[in-house]
Amino acid sequence: MQSQQLINGQLVNGLGESIAVHNPSTGAVIVKVAEATAEQVNEAVEAADAAFATWRLTTPKERAGLLLKLADAIETHAEEFARLESLNCGKPYHLVLGDELPAIVDVFRFFAGAARCQNGLAAGEYLAEHTSMIRRDPIGVVGSIAPWNYPLMMVAWKLGPALAAGNCVVLKPSEITPLTAFKLAALVKDIFPAGVVNILFGRGPTVGDPLTSHPKVRMVSLTGLVATGQHIVRNAADTMKRTHMELGGKAPVIIFDDADLDAVVEGIRIFGFYNAGQDCTAACRIYAQQGIYPALVDRLAAAVSTLKHGQPDDETTELGPLSSLAHLERVSKAVEAAKALPHIQVATGGNKVPGEGYFFQPTVLAGARQEDDIVQREVFGPVVSITPFSDEAQALAYANDSQYGLASSVWTRDVGLAHRISAQLQYGCTWVNTHFTLVSEMPHGGQKLSGYGKDMSVYGLEDYTVVRHVMIKHT
Ligand code: NAD
Repeated sequence: MQSQQLINGQLVNGLGESIAVHNPSTGAVIVKVAEATAEQVNEAVEAADAAFATWRLTTPKERAGLLLKLADAIETHAEEFARLESLNCGKPYHLVLGDELPAIVDVFRFFAGAARCQNGLAAGEYLAEHTSMIRRDPIGVVGSIAPWNYPLMMVAWKLGPALAAGNCVVLKPSEITPLTAFKLAALVKDIFPAGVVNILFGRGPTVGDPLTSHPKVRMVSLTGLVATGQHIVRNAADTMKRTHMELGGKAPVIIFDDADLDAVVEGIRIFGFYNAGQDCTAACRIYAQQGIYPALVDRLAAAVSTLKHGQPDDETTELGPLSSLAHLERVSKAVEAAKALPHIQVATGGNKVPGEGYFFQPTVLAGARQEDDIVQREVFGPVVSITPFSDEAQALAYANDSQYGLASSVWTRDVGLAHRISAQLQYGCTWVNTHFTLVSEMPHGGQKLSGYGKDMSVYGLEDYTVVRHVMIKHT
């Protein structure tokens, strides 16, 4: 199994402490890998900085060509990538291959195209006898830090726009799920010039901190916990780095009495529990109007109780394990605290699954109140809460009463109501009568503690460029 890191175009072993990478479906150790040392982090940043001098001068067409090559290479090796991802994350293999890999390939293809057609203000004489023009130039070395929930997809979201814009990257995947990034390193090595992409392995304090505080890193992009984002922003302040933060979420799902109950139940069964609920946009914080509330609780509990957990290579598996033992304990603790409240009813699930692996039962908790932790805090597991509401104003107040601002959805047949609510929700995205679905052309990103900056779309590409004004005096 390829477990070497990519520094300056060479696959190398880490020289730091060894860390075990686990299979969360069984708890077994897959491989032990040595972390990069602070010296190796420095080597990678120096290599990226040196490569930037020529990479920044490549044309969008040249960069697009290499991104397309990478997309093709990933597509060719899709089954191997899907096997590794499902081994390392416990995700059902058929879902990684059918859902994630095509989306990952598409992200690289999208940014290959987007690199060639950036927009901006027209050049012109805004002062007599002076021509002004806008440039969008690359920023320099980007330190990219990815989480464990969609390891390869998050790498694609980070590499795609950064490279398309002409930056060089030092990427650190999560130490919990590095296997697909290692495989990608071997492909990248043969496609991009040395130093343009560097891939390191290690934990936050050992590899993340030296990377995010390095003076030659001009931008840091993180997808991860709010606390990690806050730490990195503080770290980045000394050298005034640009930061791009995709942090946690707790998506409100507002269901009005007139909603199509079948569609709601089917939607939440999928969108609340996909990837075992380890998704920053998961449909987890449900608000149901009083008229539909009792039927929704019953129907959703019945539907969710049929979700089948199991091993990743079983084609009938819908739900994998949680990513790590520590995360299983976190999810379990959050559910136990909710269960201890007298007003909460466990409509289904509520416990760890006995046996090997880090599985948690798909869980629906009814009767949750707005102030409960289960409503206010991200659980990041297969757990949804349901809270009743009386009217439009209360639904909106509840939905916006959150420290998060990433994703939301509204379910109603009343198009005016859908528009009214969508216009007032304080979230990066609002879906109407669906949830969770993303496309490469549209931006993904949050507000409030969910962070700032966009992934995917032309807005994502812009985030990885600096706007510059060039003014030419005529005489
Ligand atoms: P995490 O913050 O623990 O880890 C994320 C990455 O940050 C890992 O690579 C980790 O090693 C690194 N890291 C940790 N400490 C660091 C430090 N001091 N310096 C630099 N890097 C450091 O998050 P996680 O548990 O891997 O991911 C789950 C979180 O990610 C959830 O909150 C989820 O909502 C969020 N997430 C958000 C989005 C989004 O688009 N907004 C997408 C996916 C996940």
